[in-house]
Amino acid sequence: MIRALYIGRFQPYHNGHHYVIHQIAQEADELIIGIGSAQMSHEPTDPFTAGERVLMITHALQGLHKPLYVIPLEDINRNALWVSHVRAMTPPFHRIYSGNPLVIRLFHEAGIEVHRPLMYERATLSGTKIRDLIAREERWEEYVPPPVVRVIQEIDGITRIRALNQDDGDDTGFEETTDHV
Ligand code: ATP
Ligand code: MG
Repeated sequence: MIRALYIGRFQPYHNGHHYVIHQIAQEADELIIGIGSAQMSHEPTDPFTAGERVLMITHALQGLHKPLYVIPLEDINRNALWVSHVRAMTPPFHRIYSGNPLVIRLFHEAGIEVHRPLMYERATLSGTKIRDLIAREERWEEYVPPPVVRVIQEIDGITRIRALNQDDGDDTGFEETTDHV
């Protein structure tokens, strides 16, 4: 019995993550998905709450037919203790899958088996790129599983991302505003 852990921020959950998880599912009996930086939301680089990300992942993986545990993981800002923190929050696991060099290093040093999945269509399948497309009002829907499109629409995520990416108008200049006084 192999229980595997996959960790990401999933801002948002996209087709690259989806592809990797289906690969992992062929090698593991149960899956744990750890949502990193769980405390973050409403920031341009981290627009969605942990709960919203749980919803995206759970809906997208409804058809997986394997036990799935989606666990939010808050940052503790202490790398040397982070693996223990993750282990305290997740069901016991036998191996971890990650492409993040720090995550790989920390789990390797803790003596845990680490697998490094290959990047899949990284030119388009990246959270940063997808958030950018949403902010610029370009097409993004094809890069995430359809249930994720529905969740982002349900929570009005498009309006949120665009609002978070607007500046506060400071640079319109003091003189211009005094003209109207
Ligand atoms: P961001 O640009 O916001 O960092 P991201 O696309 O890198 O988003 P993360 O949530 O940071 O997504 O990554 C979670 C995990 O998914 C990491 O291990 C990362 O290497 C992996 N990953 C991200 N994009 C892909 C992809 N296109 N193919 C395979 N793995 C991916
Ligand atoms: Mg990343």
